[in-house]
Amino acid sequence: MLFILKEGSQYSSLIEKIRDSSASYRVVDIYGLKLVVAWPDSLVEKIEDQSIKVKIKVKRPYQLASNEWRDKTIVNVGGIEVGGRGIVVAAGPCAVEDEEQMMEIAKAVKGAGAHMLRGGAFKPRTNPYSFQGLGEEGLKILKRVSDSVGLPIVTELMDVRNAGLIARYADMIQIGARNAQNYTLLREAGKLNKPILFKRGFGMTVEEWILSAEYILLEGNGNIVLCERGIRTFEKSTRFTLDIAGFAVAKTLTHLPIALDPSHPAGRRDIVEPLALAGIAAGADMLIIEVHTNPEKALSDSEQQLNIEQFENLMKKAKAIAKAIGRYI
Ligand code: PEP
Ligand code: MN
Repeated sequence: MLFILKEGSQYSSLIEKIRDSSASYRVVDIYGLKLVVAWPDSLVEKIEDQSIKVKIKVKRPYQLASNEWRDKTIVNVGGIEVGGRGIVVAAGPCAVEDEEQMMEIAKAVKGAGAHMLRGGAFKPRTNPYSFQGLGEEGLKILKRVSDSVGLPIVTELMDVRNAGLIARYADMIQIGARNAQNYTLLREAGKLNKPILFKRGFGMTVEEWILSAEYILLEGNGNIVLCERGIRTFEKSTRFTLDIAGFAVAKTLTHLPIALDPSHPAGRRDIVEPLALAGIAAGADMLIIEVHTNPEKALSDSEQQLNIEQFENLMKKAKAIAKAIGRYI
């Protein structure tokens, strides 16, 4: 149950009533509103109080992420709006490798129309012997390149111990698929005053994915962009199966914007473009695409990164599809 409070109202009597009914509750400051989330509904639905502006019985398990009480959220990343009519494209290498590489890629993707720069400094690698990222040095490179080229940064946070560090450098913090059910990390991300790109875990249902986002929302951070990046199925011809159906379903359930990552489900660069175009047609608010000036030599995800020419071609088609559905890139 959501109680939206009247602006500036005293709500201690409401809290007392919730406590007296033995329900659980949490006060959340979000979207410029003060909310009290209380559960279970059966204990609190009859409560009345002068502080309450609106009382909403949200039927879905994720109270704050549900679009039963809010239509649409627009997430602002360093001046770029995700969730409006414009579709935002973040592009860049899987991992930050060195400054020259990053600078070259950033200039090229910006030239092709990208709005944000991606690049991992802390990489969640399946194999512990694989390149793990440059760590803080990678963040510093990202920041210098971002400032010089003028593209906001999205980069991954893997470990609660690095939350403050990443927040100092990133404009948007990525929570990766492997950490999508790391609830301690999600709570920490909820305390950061930064937008979050929240990837779906590859073994998660749509409901579990949105419930995980609820952990971030409950800490008062409503600036979340969900991101579909493929799930594990029996299909072996791609790295993961892009769940375009689950993506479309999620759009009907939540007010949060939704991004699509065509690179990781593809696992091979020749099908990144069709997946990206399908994502736009299906209503993606944002795309995050791996691009490298020399993909064959990339230190991670070499098979799936696009070269600059491929990215430029993709962008041309992406713009046309966006236009066809009444949006723009
Ligand atoms: C990435 O974006 O580089 C990444 C590791 O993504 P995911 O968490 O979706 O695998
Ligand atoms: Mn990658």
